[in-house]
Amino acid sequence: AVPGAEVTLDALPLREDLRGKSPYGAPQLDVPVRLNTNENPYPPPPELVADVAEAVRAEAASLHRYPDRDAVALRTELADYLTVSTRVVLSEANVWAANGSNEILQQILQAFGGPGRSALGFEPSYSMHPIISSGTRTEWVPVPRRADFTLDTAAAASLVAQRQPDIVFVTSPNNPTGGSIPLDQLRGILEAAPGIVVVDEAYAEFSSQPSAVALIAEYPAKLIVSRTMSKAFAFAGGRLGYLAAAPAIVDALQLVRLPYHLSRLTQAAARAALRHADATLATVAKLAAERDRVVEALLGLGFTPVPSDANFVLFGQFADARAGWESYLDHGVLIRDVGIEGHLRVTIGTPEENDAFLEASKEVPR
Ligand code: PMP
Repeated sequence: AVPGAEVTLDALPLREDLRGKSPYGAPQLDVPVRLNTNENPYPPPPELVADVAEAVRAEAASLHRYPDRDAVALRTELADYLTVSTRVVLSEANVWAANGSNEILQQILQAFGGPGRSALGFEPSYSMHPIISSGTRTEWVPVPRRADFTLDTAAAASLVAQRQPDIVFVTSPNNPTGGSIPLDQLRGILEAAPGIVVVDEAYAEFSSQPSAVALIAEYPAKLIVSRTMSKAFAFAGGRLGYLAAAPAIVDALQLVRLPYHLSRLTQAAARAALRHADATLATVAKLAAERDRVVEALLGLGFTPVPSDANFVLFGQFADARAGWESYLDHGVLIRDVGIEGHLRVTIGTPEENDAFLEASKEVPR
C-alpha cells in the first residue's frame, strides 16, 4: 500500500462546505473516437508544432529566471487578435491571461466574489461556474433557462435586478446547449446587473453572433469577456485562457493572481501558436459545416438536436441518457452525459469521427 493510504478524505480537516462534493470529472478514456470535451479534433499543423518547439527551446535557456509576471508580449498579441477578429481596438491593458479560462474565472471570483457574495448563472450551463464559485466560497444562485434551453433575457434581467448578485455569468455560446445571446439582449442583463457580468465566450469563434467585446466601452465597470485558446485555437493542452475588459479590471485581478502564474514555456508556446492563428482558425468553418451536417443527420434519424452556434451539439431524446452514453462507448465513441434528462452532448470531430458517431447513433437504445 502507498504510505498514508489508511487516511480517508472524511478524516481530514476539510472545509465543511467542501465535504461530500465531487471534483469536475469528464471521463478521460482511451477510445477510438473522443467527442466529449469540446476540443478541436484537428491536431496543430507541422509548422506550428515546429514553431512551438523552437520557441520553447529558445526559452529553455532562460529557465533559471522567472517569466514576465505581466506576460506583456503575449497580452499584446492576444489584444491584436481580438482587435482583428472583433473589430474593437484593444490594447494589452485590456487583456489578462492565465492557465486556461478556468483560471481566469477563478481569479474573477477571487477578486469580485467570496464569502458573503453571490454569483448567478443560467442553467444548464458550464458546470465549472458553480464549482469555482463554491471553491471561492461565493454563494451560487442558479436560474433555470426555458425548457428549450434558450434564455428569456427579459425575465433574466428582472431576476438579476431582484437578486442583486455580485457576479452574473452569461455563457455565449452556452455550454452544453449551444445557443448564443445577441448583444441587445446582453445589454438588458448588463443594465440590470449591480456588479460584474462575465460573458464566457469560450466558443466565440464558432458563433455567428458578434462578440460582447463590443460592449466593453459601454459597460467598463461591469463587463468581463472571457476567452480561451482551448477550442478554436486547438491549444487545449497548452492551457491558455484570457479576458478582455477595462484596464481597471485587469488591475483588480493582479491583486489575486499568483506571481509568475504563466510559465515561460506557456507564454512562449502560446505566442508561437498565435502566429499560426490563420491555420488553426481555418478549422472553424470546417467544424461549423460538420456541425450543421451532424444536426441534419440527427434530425433524419429522429433525434431532437438543440440548435448550436458552437462546436458541439446537445441532442435527445433518450429514455435513459446514461444507457445511451454507455452504448455509444460500447461502439467506441466517447460523448458526454451532462446530466440533462434525456439528452447527451457530442463534440464535433473530423468527418470520419462524426460518421462513426452517426453510425453508432443508428444503433443506440433510446
Ligand atoms: N468556459 C466554457 C463555457 C467551457 O466550456 C470551458 C471548457 N470546457 C471553459 C470555459 C474552460 O476552458 P479552458 O480552461 O480550457 O480555457
